[in-house]
Amino acid sequence: MDIYKRFYILKDIGKVNFENLRNKKVLIVGAGALGSNIAISLARLGFRNIDIVDYDVVEEENLSVQDYDIADVESGKPKVFALKEKIYKINNEIKLNPVHEEFNPDNAPEFAEGKDIIIDATDNFDTRFLINEVAYRQGIPWVHGAVIEERGEAGIFVPERTGCYRCFLPKAPKGYIETCEVMGVHPSVIRFVTGFQMHLTIRYLLGKDIPENIIYYFDLSNLRFDSFRFEKRENCPVCSKREFPFLKGKEGFNAWGLCGGGTVQVRLEKNIDIENLEKILRDFGECVLKPYFLRFKKDSFEIMFFKDGKIYLKGKDMTKERAKGILKKYLGI
Ligand SMILES: [Zn+2]
Repeated sequence: MDIYKRFYILKDIGKVNFENLRNKKVLIVGAGALGSNIAISLARLGFRNIDIVDYDVVEEENLSVQDYDIADVESGKPKVFALKEKIYKINNEIKLNPVHEEFNPDNAPEFAEGKDIIIDATDNFDTRFLINEVAYRQGIPWVHGAVIEERGEAGIFVPERTGCYRCFLPKAPKGYIETCEVMGVHPSVIRFVTGFQMHLTIRYLLGKDIPENIIYYFDLSNLRFDSFRFEKRENCPVCSKREFPFLKGKEGFNAWGLCGGGTVQVRLEKNIDIENLEKILRDFGECVLKPYFLRFKKDSFEIMFFKDGKIYLKGKDMTKERAKGILKKYLGI
């Protein structure tokens, strides 16, 4: 219990609030720079019901801003599994529930079910629009956060109480290709945004007042901090009309991922012998074999094979049909 003492003795917290708080169910979407940092920080505060969803693995370039280590890179461990181990070492009372999946319209409702709050730790608009829809359809508040270069933003959206993300941003900017992979991200702005997301999360869960219809903006390169007010829109397809186009597959998710590329997920009913597969595929393209996965790169696409039967195909204009064609050609499946 002394682990949490400096937190629960705060005059705004107290032991009773603290016990209520740590039993709240939290879903974090994304285990990159924002997600790894928030998950560890919440675990340090004793939160014991944290689910975190992410399909990515730990790579060397993640280490400057994400809370992983070189052993995770060498084993090619999925980020959510690496995070579970790290959190257990920090606080063995806490069992993080790692979900090694892509958060998509098919599984989002199930992952959100029964949660008290959802935290956005994604790096793309499609997933963020999807979080917004699942949250508003299921009546769950969510805390937004985004970072790029030395800029970041954060805010909270509460169904039936505030406008939604799509009231703030009706459409993703056209041709938007800003990603941390190509533009970089400063560690300072990550701490700013995750700190603020944590604060909004705790404030909301404690029943305190929260900033309604306001997005906070941090520009550390110009030392500028602003807040923007937005209004609930009467014709919003999410919080007013309740059409939920991303959840229904009518918008987005055809070309999501980085720089206009797409990712398609396929799941086999059996395990994959990645060592054996590497021997077959190395004649056809570049292979990287790690204990957790095999990555196969060829021309305009890349495939990640995981031992447990998951396969992710990434590439420009990747579609389900193209993915099927590729798997048939190289694997006969
Ligand atoms: Zn709205």
